[in-house]
Amino acid sequence: MTKRISHWIEGREQAGTSGRSSSVFNPAIGVVTGEVDLASTAEVDLAVASARDAATSWRETSLSRRSGVLFAFRHLLHERADELAAIITAEHGKVHSDALGEIARGLENVEFAAGVPQLMKGGFSEQAGTDVDVYSIRQPLGVVAGITPFNFPAMVPLWMCANAIATGNAFVLKPSEKDPSAALFLARLWQDAGLPDGVFTVLHGDKEAVDALLHHPDVAAISFVGSTPIAKYIYETGTAHGKRVQALGGAKNHALVLPDADLEVAADAIVSAAYGAAGERCMALSVAVAVGEIADPLVEAIALRLPKLVIGDGSRADTDMGPLITREHRDKVRGYVDAGEASGATVVVDGRDCALEDGFFLGTTLLDHVTPDMTVYTDEIFGPVLGVVRVSSYDEGLALINSNPFANGTAIFTRDGGAARRFQFDVEVGMVGINVPIPVPVAYYSFGGWKASLFGDTHMYGPEGINFYTRGKVVTSRWPDPATSSVDLGFPRTR
Ligand code: NAD
Repeated sequence: MTKRISHWIEGREQAGTSGRSSSVFNPAIGVVTGEVDLASTAEVDLAVASARDAATSWRETSLSRRSGVLFAFRHLLHERADELAAIITAEHGKVHSDALGEIARGLENVEFAAGVPQLMKGGFSEQAGTDVDVYSIRQPLGVVAGITPFNFPAMVPLWMCANAIATGNAFVLKPSEKDPSAALFLARLWQDAGLPDGVFTVLHGDKEAVDALLHHPDVAAISFVGSTPIAKYIYETGTAHGKRVQALGGAKNHALVLPDADLEVAADAIVSAAYGAAGERCMALSVAVAVGEIADPLVEAIALRLPKLVIGDGSRADTDMGPLITREHRDKVRGYVDAGEASGATVVVDGRDCALEDGFFLGTTLLDHVTPDMTVYTDEIFGPVLGVVRVSSYDEGLALINSNPFANGTAIFTRDGGAARRFQFDVEVGMVGINVPIPVPVAYYSFGGWKASLFGDTHMYGPEGINFYTRGKVVTSRWPDPATSSVDLGFPRTR
């Protein structure tokens, strides 16, 4: 029995009318569990019209009331995290504890956004001119949309919607069609938290729905997270249609391991970051750059850890790593391992024959002697595959990282504070870890890569998120004494 997954418009679930749908799988067992409706352009028009009406009254709602809704939502999300995590595991495949982890990181954004009365404070300059005061305010944009990837079906929508809603916008979410149920769960929580109907909308869909949002005159801004080619398309199309766009793309995250690194700490961290969520994280480490003599012991230490990881259905408590999202993706990742081996990489740990029932599993795979010309190095693989590139010096490792077109995250492993400080200064990457393998910034900083990992000027969430979802207005005001009023055609001066 499969379930039907429909849109959430005007505060209720509404069956799609396009006649198009897409299958949703449980990737751990390889069976279809749902059919998600795919919105047509006409359905996007209806949803945006309802969001536009809702935005008009929501921006009039006081900051205290908006903050109150955020607090209530935070409370509900915290209380029901286990249920949401189960939904995520059933459609994405990640293990339950990892799903709880993404909810926890999403919650941080809700907590940040609950401080909206403080976050939206403007500036005030009394007596900027004689009897003239100047002040700045920030106002919401209206209807804003979020288009999100499969790999964080709760956290990435929360990166966006918490700040967008807190600042007074109506938010239209187009989640990934591969694991769409988490979005509906969030919609119900928003409603239970007291959010007026229409302020949070979920439109399921594929390219047709995305294109309709990109072209819609009433959508003021688009936040996107996904792969680089689509991010570039979203940025170019959205900005060509006059929208504010932030589009986060793919990644190829390197760990630079210096000879003085604590081997056990580095190996634990790299294994966690390379194979957690089966490597389907934009901040996953997929390349270990081993400097000098640490290469052999590092490869050995990583290889020793991999057989201990339990691979299986993420809903089982003893599982460390779940399946990949689809059969096609699993086969594509396996193809990269084949290609790496054919071009000369050494397969130290081979996960290609991980046959677990009919799920989309691939075992942990470790490739040594990877070189920068191999596709296993050049492409984002998004699977449980770690490549080791051997270099002879810090400078060679740094040059490798800086010449990569992706620049989302990176990490250095060392005991040398000076080397770490140098790396932080030199490396051309948006998020840097020092002995921290997945340096996702806390919610009161902002998240974003450089180069092909981000199109647009603003990073996501945190202070930059508040700016993204608001626009500034500056008011110059005078309450003149009628006795001193006169006509003056000169350009206004402040002195
Ligand atoms: P994806 O680019 O395939 O899809 C992302 C979204 O775009 C989905 O909602 C999808 O429906 C939509 N989409 C797909 N094809 C489209 C098209 N042709 N036109 C318009 N819309 C389209 O990404 P994914 O496979 O869901 O997610 C994995 C990717 O996301 C990886 O590349 C990963 O690195 C990236 N990612 C990046 C970050 C980051 O913060 N930089 C975070 C998470 C994921």
